[in-house]
Amino acid sequence: MTQQRSPSLEAWVLGRRLELLGLRGVKKLELHENRTVMVTLTERGVLRLHRGYYYAPDSVLRAVVDFVSPRVPRQRRLQAERELLAFPVGDFVPPKPRPSRNGRVRPGDLRLIRELEKLHRKFNREYFGGKLSAVRIRLSSRMRTRLGELTLDERTHRPVEIAISRRHLERDEWSEVEHTMLHEMVHQWQAESGLNVDHGPAFRRKALEVGIEPRARRFVRSRRRAARYG
Ligand SMILES: [Zn+2]
Repeated sequence: MTQQRSPSLEAWVLGRRLELLGLRGVKKLELHENRTVMVTLTERGVLRLHRGYYYAPDSVLRAVVDFVSPRVPRQRRLQAERELLAFPVGDFVPPKPRPSRNGRVRPGDLRLIRELEKLHRKFNREYFGGKLSAVRIRLSSRMRTRLGELTLDERTHRPVEIAISRRHLERDEWSEVEHTMLHEMVHQWQAESGLNVDHGPAFRRKALEVGIEPRARRFVRSRRRAARYG
């Protein structure tokens, strides 16, 4: 664990160091953790600086002073900019992790995932003799033209996850979603039977047996568009 210094103390110490290095005319120093703009000086004399510079050596802080001081020759200012940008602020103040767009669980997702898991269990009993393993079900916001996708473990080639397109769930009828789940489950059956996961003869045979279209692409009627599977 690192010690948490008080933000105001950090600003005060950093402000003093900058003053000693020649900074003038700054009324206030504010620290931030925004990585897009490291240093700005407002017209009202507020210097906004990334908090990581608290950990910078004097040589880097001198570059900060040059960068914001008036009447610094252009060449020197450009060099100062390069120097201050080269300092790895992120090593000292790591960026806060943001929830990824794709991984975000939205309200209502859990209920939908439970429904899809139930569907997987039902189809497993009805069409695969209950022999398929339980896999994780995920909703994907990234899948725009694909309806569903089976993910295999890179090393073992065992199925780990079935992703269903969020768009598909929102736009198409439940019977279409059922079709997609069954399609992915035929791929799961291929993988767990040691067959290639493709749309070849084994896929087509099994697809006909379970009553789904034996192809990689499907025309989703309710929206009059072609969509494909992974
Ligand atoms: Zn497929």
